[in-house]
Amino acid sequence: MKLVRAEVATFTLEAPLAGWAAPLDEAPDPVFAGRMLGDGVAIDPIGQTLHAPCDGTVFGLPASRHAVTLRADNGAEILMHVGLETVALGGEGFEAHVAEGARVRRGQPLLSFDLDLLATRARSLLTPIVVTNGDAFEIVERTTGREVRPGDPLITLRPLAGTAARAELSEAAMVVEELVMPLPHGLHARPAARLAARAQAFRAEIEVAAGPRRADVRSAVALMTLGAGHGQAVRLSARGADGAEAIAALRALLEEIAAEERAAVPPRAAAPAPAAEQSSEPGVLRGVTAAPGLAIGVAVRLAEAEPLVAETSRGAEAEIAALREALAKVAAGLAAGAGSGHQSRQDILAAHQAFLADPDLRARADAAIAAGASAGIAWREAVRATVAALRGLGDARFAERADDLLDLERQVLFALSGEEAPRPQLPSGAVVVADELLPSQLLGLEGAQVAGFCTARGGATSHVAILAQAMGVPALAAMGEGLLKTPDGAAVILDADAGLLRVGPDRAALEAAQSALAARAGRREADRAAAAAPGGLADGTRIEVLANLGAVAEAAPAVGQGAEGCGLFRTEFLYLDRQAPPSEDEQAVAYQAVADALAGRPLTVRTLDAGGDKPLAFAPTPHEANPALGLRGLRAGLRAPALLRAQLAAVLRVDGPVRILLPMVNDLTDLRAARRVVAELAPGRAVPVGVMVETPAAALLADQLAREADFLSLGTNDLTQYVLAMDREHPELAPRLDGLHPAVLRLIGRVGEACAAAGKPASVCGGLAADPLAAPLLVGLGVRSLSVAPAAVPGLKARLRALDLAACEAVARAAVDLTSAEDVRAMVRERLPASGAPA
Ligand code: PEP
Ligand code: MG
Repeated sequence: MKLVRAEVATFTLEAPLAGWAAPLDEAPDPVFAGRMLGDGVAIDPIGQTLHAPCDGTVFGLPASRHAVTLRADNGAEILMHVGLETVALGGEGFEAHVAEGARVRRGQPLLSFDLDLLATRARSLLTPIVVTNGDAFEIVERTTGREVRPGDPLITLRPLAGTAARAELSEAAMVVEELVMPLPHGLHARPAARLAARAQAFRAEIEVAAGPRRADVRSAVALMTLGAGHGQAVRLSARGADGAEAIAALRALLEEIAAEERAAVPPRAAAPAPAAEQSSEPGVLRGVTAAPGLAIGVAVRLAEAEPLVAETSRGAEAEIAALREALAKVAAGLAAGAGSGHQSRQDILAAHQAFLADPDLRARADAAIAAGASAGIAWREAVRATVAALRGLGDARFAERADDLLDLERQVLFALSGEEAPRPQLPSGAVVVADELLPSQLLGLEGAQVAGFCTARGGATSHVAILAQAMGVPALAAMGEGLLKTPDGAAVILDADAGLLRVGPDRAALEAAQSALAARAGRREADRAAAAAPGGLADGTRIEVLANLGAVAEAAPAVGQGAEGCGLFRTEFLYLDRQAPPSEDEQAVAYQAVADALAGRPLTVRTLDAGGDKPLAFAPTPHEANPALGLRGLRAGLRAPALLRAQLAAVLRVDGPVRILLPMVNDLTDLRAARRVVAELAPGRAVPVGVMVETPAAALLADQLAREADFLSLGTNDLTQYVLAMDREHPELAPRLDGLHPAVLRLIGRVGEACAAAGKPASVCGGLAADPLAAPLLVGLGVRSLSVAPAAVPGLKARLRALDLAACEAVARAAVDLTSAEDVRAMVRERLPASGAPA
């Protein structure tokens, strides 16, 4: 059903309180008098009850209950702050009549207060009533200099007419469409994020309502808290010139996601027993399988260090600035981590980035600060309110997202406190036991010898589960409070496949687990043995299979997986999260350690690829509207020559077959500039210098680059994003960001030809190299070296062993003439099927 109704141009806020209405300038507080929180009126109260000045939703009600923020139905946000510096009363003398999130009607009592107590304890009784989103509304009339009673007109607002967009909005009709939620799992995190992202393309104000709850479509967090389940009636309303178009697009997106979800493999079944139901066998705890596998180890409780939270506000301005700074710091850390590691890790960090920038969370926190809270308390209140809403929906998929929010709460609180979140040191064989494990805690354990994870809460689809799966570590979740009684240091058997944790197992159980582990290890060993043979096709064509490494400790295990060297050593780990750059000596030690672990196999060190999505704490770059098109990679290196020189000098000190790889090269000017530095540093040493081909310019000029570079390495992650003009971190575009797009393949072919003509090696070190459907195409296009995550080496070698060059060249020739990545995938799947290829 579609209906159109006319826009109401202005609306009036009624006096919420009996008293004398005065200009805001009379408030003896620069924050209010200076309009830092917005414009409005101050009331010197006679009455003791604060009423709703309009219909709306209670958006902020701090624990101290001395202020209320209301969001009017037309989006105006009104802060009513009873007295000045009344936060210090800690709630004494105040009684709330509504809860946060409540829908209220005009005139409804919101809170009562003890006027006599305030008169003796507060700095002033003056009660500011301000509109906090003054960028969207202007006050056209206000009542001052006279007594008012609840219900009297106090402030008349009009949607801001100062900008074209606002004027257009205020004149536009509202388009409303009702639909039945088609998503099989309801409006959970991923569709919420995609809807929020899609809405950015429109100017209209768009709201989604489900039952009594309403949400701004641009806030994924708010959308999730609607708890809109499958089959529920949902109302989309939009106001603005492109409102109808926006609604049509959102509706189409919902249908599209619904079709995808219906087609998707259903989520992995939960373990046999629900969390609460404990095993009758003594010493056995049950849980939900979050990641499969078997481990014998010792239980280790993670120490839960809590950040210090300042309780007292130093004034709204200072607290808002502190919160902004902390949010920016956490965002930078997330951005830095999001660019590397396995896909699921990147996805999670990207989702956290989206949560961190969520307008609803930020607005809640700002409202709490405006009401007198410190930045830490405000952020905690904002997060907890959303967490409570998510948990209260009674749907596990929504509740699991609460972990992510709590994780962000902790990270931001640590950033505000100026402390670092502790990184635990674990003994090897540790089965980590925790109430819940936040994704950032889990990422902090990467590289540690963790044997398994057990959490009292969480579930099979939480991020922690995804990360544990990616780490190849068994994990159980939703084990209930009983888990937390597990003694630290107890011997345990974690059989995640069966959903069981045995605490203090007897000899028979230990022996059975040991023999099961031995059988698995035997199979893995056989796979490894096959992976040790040099990479190549069935017809004998040699294809080198190398490893991408991002830390020193990864090198030796990579060799064990059959890596024939390192085709890409990402050196960002040495630089990120540091207050000062690593010295040449420190770097030389790290690079030598990798070279030693590779034991004579080639080591390709990529110079620092910072900037863009990986900012450096010690060398901040100016704000860039488009960081992906900004000072990143070699551009940043040439701009900070001392950094680049120190790094190149360290690489040149490596004793062993080392090569230098330059990121984000566009043309010969870049290559020559870097080569000059290398020549100055080591005039007599011929270290091969190669370039990443990850911009369209480099691919188009591959013939020139191949003549002067010693090797070319295709960075297909970036090349794909730049060729298709799709941000590699864009959640909605992710499914279409496919390196098998014929446009990308044509450029890869061009690089293959240029390298063949110049007699230089062409390799691929982007994610495409590990894609079983891509392997024959890359080989067919002239690539003779592939560098992939160590865990992918055995599988890739097996895939290559089943191919021959003629077939690869034939599919490559056909692929470049197809019209889409999907068609390319379908064609390869049909002609050269691969077991394990993505469906
Ligand atoms: C690439 O862009 O493909 C690449 C390997 O570099 P990174 O992923 O580190 O940007
Ligand atoms: Mg890259």
